Amino acid sequence: MSLPPARIASPIADVETPALLVDLDAYERNLDRMVDSLKGHPVRLRAHAKTHKCPIIASHQVSRGAVGICCQTLGEAEAMVFGGVRNILITNQVVSAGKIRRLAALSKQADIMVCADDEANLRDLDAAADVFGVRLPVLVEVNIGQNRCGVEPGAPTLALARSIAARRSLRFAGIQAYHGKAQHIYEPGQRAKVVDGAVSLVRQTVDLLRAHGLECERVSGGGTGTYLIEAASGVYNEVQAGSYVFMDADYQRVRGEGPTFENALFVLTTVISRSGGRAVCDAGLKASSLDSGMPVVQNRPEIPYLSAADEHGMLQLDGDPGSLCVGDQLRLIPGHCDPTVNLYDWYVCIRGGIVEALWPISARGANS
Ligand SMILES: *Cc1c(COP(=O)(O)O)cnc(C)c1O
Repeated sequence: MSLPPARIASPIADVETPALLVDLDAYERNLDRMVDSLKGHPVRLRAHAKTHKCPIIASHQVSRGAVGICCQTLGEAEAMVFGGVRNILITNQVVSAGKIRRLAALSKQADIMVCADDEANLRDLDAAADVFGVRLPVLVEVNIGQNRCGVEPGAPTLALARSIAARRSLRFAGIQAYHGKAQHIYEPGQRAKVVDGAVSLVRQTVDLLRAHGLECERVSGGGTGTYLIEAASGVYNEVQAGSYVFMDADYQRVRGEGPTFENALFVLTTVISRSGGRAVCDAGLKASSLDSGMPVVQNRPEIPYLSAADEHGMLQLDGDPGSLCVGDQLRLIPGHCDPTVNLYDWYVCIRGGIVEALWPISARGANS
């Protein structure tokens, strides 16, 4: 782990760059807006921690009413349990003997649930849970159109649910039905159409399971782009939004009627070179992920971030080339929050221009 790039109580000008900033006021408003937007809906929030990878943030989500968190990897879940989080759904498959033993061992320490979409994997999970003397809650992951993991809705889901219920050391804990691609459909009508189709597959599947005596105690899915549709569906009872805590440049392009979540995550960068119509900053592709487009300079739409090299970001200065000097700090809004977070060891938490806290990103790099 690297040293923190700032000291608590110092001004933002003293932060060494590139650094990952959290605007605490915006972050806290995002936490509250999520909780407020779910009032009156019969769903619980199970916030996705793959966005932030930080037990401190998970604890804020839980203290504001989330029933628990989601993790995408076993390593993330281990870091969260180590940081004091008690209730975790791993929204993914855990495969291979060593990892399955780690999963069973972890469930001695906290309430851990896992997803599965494969019969042989169920057999392995059951055997490991038996060895460790735990009863492991398992959700069937259902493919509702993302075409990532998951069995098909209907009969294939029923078959797997029955197999879980029949095993001595597993417990059928419901289904996960998440549509990742739908989150980023910019146009609200199109997005709603895709999710409505997915919801009706989920409803039919839940009804089919019920007709065979299997009640889904948990129907979990939905991300920041669609969670209000799942929440209003009457069939989901948990939503898994993650990005709402921070937002990013791509999510700000997703329009909708839901609450306005603010950008709360920034890459603080310094201009290190200036010539002609160009400025170069010290945040390149090792400081901000580029998979969902270039970062955007906060409050300076006239300065496009054109391209990135490892440690260099190229800024175009058309209108007023005198407007940026070597040494100036800028805030970049990353294109995609989750993979950007994974590039840093520390959040530098800012309020009123002062560093108020430093939070370790404990699950950074915990990809296995
Ligand atoms: C990423 C992810 C989420 C959270 O999605 P956001 O768009 O970040 O809110 C929820 N569930 C699963 C399974 C995911 O992979």
